[in-house]
Order: sequence, then structure tokens, then C-alpha cells
Amino acid sequence: MTGFDTVLVVDWSAACKRASQTPSKDAIWLGLVREGEPQEPIYCRSRIEAEACIAALFEQEMKAGRCVLAAFDFPFGYPRGFARAITGSVDPLLLWDWLAARIEDSGQGANNRFDVAEKMNAAFDGPGPFWGKTHRDRWPGIPYRKTGILYDEVPEKRTCDRIARTSSSCFQLCYSPTVGSQMLMGVPMLSRLRRMEGVAVWPFEHWRTARVVLAEIWPGTIERVVRQAVAQRGPGAIRDREQVRLLSLALSRLPDARLGDMMMDLPSEAAEEGWVLGVGYEEDLMRACDDQLKPPPLRDDCFALPAGVDWTPVGDALALLRARLRAVVGQEVVPLGQAAGRVLAGPVVAQRANPPEANTAVDGYGFADDSLGEGDQVLPLVDGRAAAGVPYPGAVPPGHAVRVLTGAALPEGVDTVILQEDVTLGEGRIAFRGGLKTGANTRRAGEDVEAGATVLEAGRVLTPADLALCAAVGLADLPVFGRLRVAVISTGDELVEPGETARAGQIYDANRPMLTALVGQMGYDVVDLGRVADDRAALRAALDRGARQADVILTSGGASSGDEDHVSALLNEAGAMAEWRIALKPGRPLALGMWGGAPVFGLPGNPVAALVCTLIFARPAMAVLSGAGWHAPQGFDVPAGFEKRKKPGRREYLRARIREGRAEVFRSEGSGRISGLSWAEGLVELPDGPAEIRPGDAVRYIPFTSFIGP
Ligand code: AMP
Ligand code: MG
Repeated sequence: MTGFDTVLVVDWSAACKRASQTPSKDAIWLGLVREGEPQEPIYCRSRIEAEACIAALFEQEMKAGRCVLAAFDFPFGYPRGFARAITGSVDPLLLWDWLAARIEDSGQGANNRFDVAEKMNAAFDGPGPFWGKTHRDRWPGIPYRKTGILYDEVPEKRTCDRIARTSSSCFQLCYSPTVGSQMLMGVPMLSRLRRMEGVAVWPFEHWRTARVVLAEIWPGTIERVVRQAVAQRGPGAIRDREQVRLLSLALSRLPDARLGDMMMDLPSEAAEEGWVLGVGYEEDLMRACDDQLKPPPLRDDCFALPAGVDWTPVGDALALLRARLRAVVGQEVVPLGQAAGRVLAGPVVAQRANPPEANTAVDGYGFADDSLGEGDQVLPLVDGRAAAGVPYPGAVPPGHAVRVLTGAALPEGVDTVILQEDVTLGEGRIAFRGGLKTGANTRRAGEDVEAGATVLEAGRVLTPADLALCAAVGLADLPVFGRLRVAVISTGDELVEPGETARAGQIYDANRPMLTALVGQMGYDVVDLGRVADDRAALRAALDRGARQADVILTSGGASSGDEDHVSALLNEAGAMAEWRIALKPGRPLALGMWGGAPVFGLPGNPVAALVCTLIFARPAMAVLSGAGWHAPQGFDVPAGFEKRKKPGRREYLRARIREGRAEVFRSEGSGRISGLSWAEGLVELPDGPAEIRPGDAVRYIPFTSFIGP
């Protein structure tokens, strides 16, 4: 019933100057979505230009038979009681006309808003309610600061501002955010626009049948998504432009019923004070425009294997995964303190140098090295000292020294520091042996990192030390990929949940606790979808849930081509499966496929094979899906503590651990031996070809911890 064809979002401005010709912030931005198609945001250099543009747009859209929602980012009404004090009526639209009759504006931006605000303040007894001005000694009726204004005659904020926790009031005329000034300079325009045929104001008028509806919005409702978009666009991003682009997108994509609720579900104060469209619906709005920050899904044929290949060598299989997969998660911006383990979505550029200024590396005394003579030195000390965070205020004259403490910025006139242990301290002077190098015991500005240097690249999995680095170079928030969500499903009629009674023929589900823990250790969000019987309908339902709730699905069991191998059967049926017969031991065929847009790793049911296949194949694949890129696990060549002969054809992974500098392997290679997995601390990787290993020969050992990072 709302059904708008066109959504316009206007970022208004109270600037006193015409904005620059090249698009910038501090101008007016119009975001426009027409019939679902986002248009390039429009840039206007002045209010007068913008008003003409908006009016022309209304004409054009109405002529084409399109209904318009036009949303503006300033309040449409003042807190209750204010309108009556000015016009004698509670009708906010009378106040609009009152303002339109008084506010003067020019194409260059000069305007009389402070004069008008001063006149309105005169209607109240105490100071205010309007405050803040550009000149301290002009407009005596407007307080320079808010202190002392009581807001007893009229509240400082409207009900919806308090609910939305907007940061400022419509009485604040100066200092960002200048909502009060934007409103004074915006309402007269609205008062003229609403006189156009077919235009109505929400929620003050009968807007349901109007062809253009004017409404108030606040970009803060979608702040999280705006921050993501700005971070994603990098240094050239213009915040105001992103705000109107995303808000218009959100409003146009919101389901009609939701928009209807937003517009109709209002408290009584709204009739006088107006209301911010979308307050209380922030998550809906963000969801509506968030999708486009997410990359498109993988193609259904992404796991297809070259035809005619029988057993694919491990290396080829890995190369295929590497080539076919890419990040499937969206992006967000998180505070530094929450970024450990997250995957960086863009490069981090140093905002300041480390160290930002030259400083002393030790406690001691600083001086200018070239002001000293040869040999032993006696230098008079200046008064005062330089400490970390408390710089020495003046310059140190040549031939003088100053007390300095570790981390203190080098005072002017100081380039070299002598360690306090190396001086004899006398009354107001120090003596020491000369011959220091210029710059000794100091740290140069930027010697670690220069401002502007890229310190970390996209794809980095952030370590605690990375956070120290980012903090030091001036960052407080980091753009990261959304956490990869991994669904885990166990399949098999024989499985029962640990804790339940196992009847004859039943076994406990051992894979699920192992795989969910592993996925959690890798830093992904685990979606535990439980156990599913060998039943096609049940499995189909579980895969559907997995595709809805996760970015990738791990199943175990039922992945071969037997009667009860329903995972491969279903993936086959969906036409998006490839049976990967990989030449590896332990491991039976892997069923790789797509289900509802989500990649599925159909792992063997056998716990040993399930773990090895997860570590060798699913792990690097999930890292790529998470945005971290491809990482081979770090292995080491160590002397073998065992003897073994192997035939050519399959790469082998043995459960192993290091003792006394040698790799030991588990006594049995039986693939059902879960105790061997628990015994092991890593894997020994034996090559595809034949091998005859004797104690002391070098073998490749990969610790389990190498698989846990990216
Ligand atoms: P499948 O791949 O379904 O043919 O299963 C191979 C072997 O692994 C069978 O012996 C299964 O009973 C066993 N198995 C399958 N799933 C699990 C599980 N979640 N926990 C323990 N063993 C399992
Ligand atoms: Mg089974």
C-alpha cells in the first residue's frame, strides 16, 4: 500500500559558502533509486541549486506516473510546545510557513538564520532554546554555549530523538552536527515544495494518496553499513554520498509491508514533533542495503573436475580449489579491540608514523652532539626535563644537556642521548666520556613505520601484535570480512548422540564434536546442524537449513556412491556435485558440490579420514571463502623415528608426533582408530610416489597447530 516507485534521499547542508565544483562533503547530496535501479548520487553545490533540482525531479516523476518517497535528513518539527510559543498554534506546518516567510538564502550560501533564531529565542523567558553561533559577539539573544539553558519551557529533544539517540538537538545551531541550522535552512524549502500539486508531508498530512511524500530520515539509522561502505571504498570515499546512496537503496528495497509498518506505527507526539522514518527498524534497513556489500555467490559448477581423470593427485585437487574459490562473505568495520582473529578486508595504511616523533630510547641526558668538543665532557644542565608525554617546553642551547626519560620527545636542540649510568652527576651539570655517535640512544621519527605506509594487506588474519601495530599507527577501527559461518552435519542411521544409550549396532557421533571444535578453533562461526539419519528428505531439509544459515557446509558420512550415500546422491541430483576421487590415504571419495549457493564438503564418515580431509582440503578452501586467501600449512623436515615402505599412487598422511627431535607415527594405520588421532600432535606427509623410509631419513611433519591458523 506504500508502493513507492522512486526513492529520493537528501543530505541537506547549512553551509554558508557554495561548495566546491569537485564533489565533496559539506555539500548537498541526493541519492536516488528509480524502479529498483540505483542512480548515481547527484551533487548540488548550494541549497538553491538543490531545491530547483528536487522540484524538477518531482515534476518529472509525477509526469511519468511514478510515486516518490522523498526523505530529508533534518527534523520536520520541534519538540512539543515550541510551535505554539512561536505561532500560537501546535500545527508544525504553520511554523514551516512562518520560517519560510523569514529565512533568506542566497546562491552563495549567505543567510540570516541566526537573526531568525534570535527572534524565536525572544519568545522564551530564559536563555535559549537556540544556542551556538559563528561569532561570539553577534546575536546577543543567542547563547554561545549550551550551559545555562534550562529547557524548562520546551524540551531539548523530541521523543523520537531520544529514542533514536541522535547526537544533537534541533536547537543546536553551530558545531557539528549543526542539525538546528540545517533545519532552519531546510524547512523553508519543504514549505515551498509541499505546495506543489500532489505533494504531502509525512506524518503531518494525509500522505497515503499523495504522489510525492516528504519524510524525515536520519542516516545514523544505518551507520554500521555506511561505515562498512566507506571503509570498503577507501580514501576517496565521501561519507555523505555513501549515506544517501545506501539509505535510498535501503528504503527502496525494504519490503512494502515493512515500510508500511514504519510509516504507520507512530506515537501521538509525532503529529506535532514529526518522526524519523526508520527509528526502531534499523536492522531492517541495514539488512535491506547490506546485501550489496556481499559478493555474488559461487557458481554451481565451481567444483567440476576435468573429464576423464580417474584419481586426482592431491596437488592438482588443491590447485583446483585455489583457482575456483573466492571470498563469499560481506564486510564490516569493527573496533580494534574486537578485531583479533578477524580477516582484514582492505589494506591498513599508517595514519601517523611510528614513532611519531624522534624520542629517547633510554633514561639519560640529551644534547646536541656537534656542540661538544673532543674528549671528556662537562655540560651544564638546563632546568626541567623531558618525559614521555610531557615534552620539554623550550630549546636546549648548544653545549648544554637536559634530563630525558625513556620515550620523551627529543627537545629542540637535542639529537643525542647519553645513558644515565654513563655520566657523573654534579651540581647542575654532568660529566661523561665523549665519543658518542650522533643520534646515539635515540629513535628517529618514522624509523619503524612512515606515515602513509601500508602496514598490513587485505587477507591478513589479525594477530594480537597486528592490533598493537594498527593502534600505534593511529587506527581505531578496521575493515574486516564478515565471519565465515560453517555448518556441520553428521549423517548415518547408526549414530547416536554422546550421552544417549547406544543400542546394538549404534555408535556415538564422534565426528561432530571434533569438526565443530576444529571449525571454532579456525576462527569461524559454527552452525551445528546435528545428526541426520540416512534419509533423503531429512538430509535435504538439513542442507536447506545449512544453505540459509551458513556460508559453507561440512557433512560427514554418506559421501561415496553406495545405496545409503545420500549426501552424494542429493548433490548429484542438484546437478552441482563432483565426486573427487583424490589419490590420498586415508580418505575415500570426497563429494564436493553446491547446495542452495553454499559449497558443501561431503567428508568421509570415518573419523580419521574425516579429519585428514578437513585439514588437507576443507581448511584451505574455507580460508579462501573467508577472505584470508590461500595458505599452505607450515611443515618441517624432521628425521623419521620409524620405518616404512610405500607404493606409488597415493599421497599418505600418518598420525604422528615429535619426540626427541624425531617424528614417531602411530602404531596402526587403521582408519577407524580414533585413539591414534588423539595420540597424534600432527601429520607426517609422505609423497605421491614410492618411498622407503628408514629411521633418520628426513620426512615432512605438519603440526596440527599449523592447520589452525588461516
Ligand atoms: P560412511 O562414509 O557413511 O560410509 O561411513 C564410514 C564409516 O564411518 C562407517 O563405519 C560409519 O559408521 C563411520 N561414521 C560415519 N559417521 C560417523 C560419525 N559421525 N562418528 C563416528 N563414526 C562415523
Ligand atoms: Mg553412513
